Amino acid sequence: MNLLVTGAAGFVGSSYVRGLLADDSAGTAAVTVLDKLTYAGTLTNLPVGHPRLEFVHGDICDAALVDKLMSGADQVVHFAAESHVDRSIEGAGAFVRTNVLGTQTLLDAALRHGVGPFVHVSTDEVYGSLETGAWPEDHPLRPSSPYSASKASSDLIALSYHRTHGLDVRVTRCSNNYGPHQFPEKIVPLFVTNLLDGETVPLYGDGRNVRDWLHVEDHCLGVDLVRTKGRPGEVYNLGGGTELTNRELTGLLLAACDADWDRVEYVEDRKGHDLRYCVDWTKARTELGYRPRHDFASGLAETVAWYREHRDWWEPLKRGARLR
Ligand code: NAD
Repeated sequence: MNLLVTGAAGFVGSSYVRGLLADDSAGTAAVTVLDKLTYAGTLTNLPVGHPRLEFVHGDICDAALVDKLMSGADQVVHFAAESHVDRSIEGAGAFVRTNVLGTQTLLDAALRHGVGPFVHVSTDEVYGSLETGAWPEDHPLRPSSPYSASKASSDLIALSYHRTHGLDVRVTRCSNNYGPHQFPEKIVPLFVTNLLDGETVPLYGDGRNVRDWLHVEDHCLGVDLVRTKGRPGEVYNLGGGTELTNRELTGLLLAACDADWDRVEYVEDRKGHDLRYCVDWTKARTELGYRPRHDFASGLAETVAWYREHRDWWEPLKRGARLR
């Protein structure tokens, strides 16, 4: 079985591939990774040289390359995306190109070569913001940022290939992930690495925004359950982490790094900042037996320890992207 995994030099996809390759049981898949190695992707996230891994440096919008790779694939897990909301506010072009047109390029090739399941990895952000309760999968999509709008668009295109052409497409919508190997522009690694360097951390607005934090390995567990046990044409919410305001998360990160609140710099709120996300993941639990395994307190402590011990991983990335 040959699995084509896009965007697996990034945070979530690389965790997924490392997990697959660590499983040596008989019949496990050969994995082909297609990744453009944008600022967010690095080969240091992958076990390059592993006998079941082939890495292809390329763009999911490159129709000829995608067609060639799809002709040798049995299944697809599609992580590749422009993923940072702040960057999408500064400029949406790359988001529409990669997230919408890139997804359509992959779907067309999958259709031509009869490849499926095709797991399209999406996000809870497509639902927009809600003050109370939790979204089920059939909740209307009301994305707020160019990032979430491009992901919502790609979800709809992916699902249309099931409805129109019968392609075996499955969509996941997951809450916020934390864990090792996350590019240090996102809140957890940015704050931890700034604090480890004795610097301040920028907290948006009043810090009241609520996110559900899930360990990246639990996200990957859910994605693989959808690939192996999910149903064609279905959407599965993946959540079940820990709901925290950004202020609460900041307090935990300060404590984990032995730092005080005087290290927090309150900065102007993000434009269109969603107040709260929360997915109802009953469907994944009851249909697929999905359940997060990581306890948040120990998962966060291990994550902070990982960044503490892997300066060689994040220092060059931060320097390259001019992040502080
Ligand atoms: P990331 O930014 O860390 O990684 C994205 C990867 O995609 C990088 O390796 C990059 O090089 C690659 N890529 C970008 N454009 C490409 C292109 N045109 N062609 C080929 N490769 C390209 O992102 P992530 O956090 O790992 O997110 C992966 C997926 O999971 C995304 O689709 C995202 O929407 C979804 N997701 C992420 C989270 C989260 O908390 N990180 C939560 C829910 C859903």
